[in-house]
Amino acid sequence: MKAAFTPEQHNSKNPQAMTSFKKVLIANRGEIAVRVLRTLRELDIQSAVVFSEPDRDSLAVRLADEAYCVGPAPSAESYLRGDSIVELAVSIEADAIHPGYGFLSENSGFARQCRTAGVVFIGPSPQAIDAMGLKIESRRLMIDAQVPVVPGGTEPLADAAAAVAAANEIGYPVMLKASAGGGGKGMRLVEDEAEVESAFRAAQSEAGASFGNAAVYVEKYIALPRHVEIQVLGDSHGNVISLGERECSLQRRHQKVIEEAPSIAVDRALRHRMGDAAVKAAKAVAYEGAGTVEFLLAKSGEFYFLEMNTRLQVEHPVTELVTGVDLVEQQLRVAQGQAIDTDLFNGEPHGHAVEARLYAEDPFKGFAPSPGIIKALRWPQGPGVRNDAGVEALSEVSIHYDPMLAKLIVWGADRAQALRRLKRALAEMRIEGVKTTAPLFQALLEDKDFLAGDLDIGMLDRKLEAGELKDPAAQESESAADALDRDIGFIAAALANLEGSHGVERSAPVGSGDSARHRWRVVSRREGVGGSIS
Ligand code: ADP
Repeated sequence: MKAAFTPEQHNSKNPQAMTSFKKVLIANRGEIAVRVLRTLRELDIQSAVVFSEPDRDSLAVRLADEAYCVGPAPSAESYLRGDSIVELAVSIEADAIHPGYGFLSENSGFARQCRTAGVVFIGPSPQAIDAMGLKIESRRLMIDAQVPVVPGGTEPLADAAAAVAAANEIGYPVMLKASAGGGGKGMRLVEDEAEVESAFRAAQSEAGASFGNAAVYVEKYIALPRHVEIQVLGDSHGNVISLGERECSLQRRHQKVIEEAPSIAVDRALRHRMGDAAVKAAKAVAYEGAGTVEFLLAKSGEFYFLEMNTRLQVEHPVTELVTGVDLVEQQLRVAQGQAIDTDLFNGEPHGHAVEARLYAEDPFKGFAPSPGIIKALRWPQGPGVRNDAGVEALSEVSIHYDPMLAKLIVWGADRAQALRRLKRALAEMRIEGVKTTAPLFQALLEDKDFLAGDLDIGMLDRKLEAGELKDPAAQESESAADALDRDIGFIAAALANLEGSHGVERSAPVGSGDSARHRWRVVSRREGVGGSIS
């Protein structure tokens, strides 16, 4: 049995020391800033991070070799200030900027500014970012490169009448989508002709307001597909390789919640075909660095290109755990002009990895944000557990930024072991001061469809709406209340017994030894002995 967990054991070649970059500036915050600086440290490259005023005491700032304040809380005045960040990089003599994900990572203007200033942007060329940034353009490119796309248009719809005509031609249901869309914005599902006009206008105005680009097109709606994406790596020598797939179907309102590698819906042959398509997609834009090609995998087994994310993904660790490749290290190598080792990955994943995104939100109260100070914190450890966190005890979770606290990632020899480890890790974890999405993962780990891997992109929303996933804390307090009732009966019975009454017999069932034991268990858990999860 392959019990060991160290990534370097399989597939990956020994990393060689790197010399060219002496200092890299990380233009990001939270867990991804910490993630990047870890690899920099392993490679003996100096790390510098930027931070906003409220992030002054953050984990990334504490861990980095150097840290620089770039402005106040609002991202537009700090983390998105590309001009001052490039200026900073020049003044501190950083060789390169790592943008992480979000913020400036897919901003081609920023990538250009870096180039002009003579600082390496760790990512693809501005042209590749632009080509993949708009859905209409990337669809055209993919069709030319013979990558399968969702059947539909390749031109912006001129008006509502054009939308009706195009939707009628494709056949219902259809999706109206903003070309510049992201994060599920500017997207509308349309079931029949009567809905097209209003959906078109809504998608168009949402797209205009959110992205400053109102172009909308129409494509076929794929019923109950999986979201399966391929990790690729490209270099400046024209090499592009696939590092296999990630299963990201477990989504809430189009946002990923749990990701896995590999996907149980993908066998060796399909992995090969999807990998080939992803490599073609990346080659079409001469892709350099780490990128992700997202596909919808239909029940029929057909797959369709959705979009390419031209950056490191939140969920990259699951690929790292099953391939043994440090993706940040590869990004750095490529950015220094090195060729990637085309045998880096032997084509088949090793074991199974699952990532749960831990947000400061209350999943059973409509995912209400839960800002505050983390008063107590115990991260899980032990076999197969990796925890990429952006916070520590006493960190403040502010309302200004994405509320992701950490990513809990587990590896197992197979999916069943990985899920058992996730369950164990969640039981071990303790976070006090803010609510987290941990109880949702605990509920999912009791769900038979999730356990069976029977996923599609709408599954989580359907289960949440139907109230199928139960809050384990609510169940616990219910049983605590039951236990209290029983204990009152027990005390009454004991008192009656003391007084020599015959009430004992009548009260005996509620005052049984079992319920008294149960009560002890509940009390000890409430006191944190067994690790309560808020
Ligand atoms: P965005 O860029 O806004 O994230 P995507 O094109 O990546 O938009 O789609 C987001 C999600 O919406 C997908 O992961 C999938 O869940 C759903 N989706 C998008 N297009 C379709 C489609 N044609 N049929 C069914 N679901 C879709």
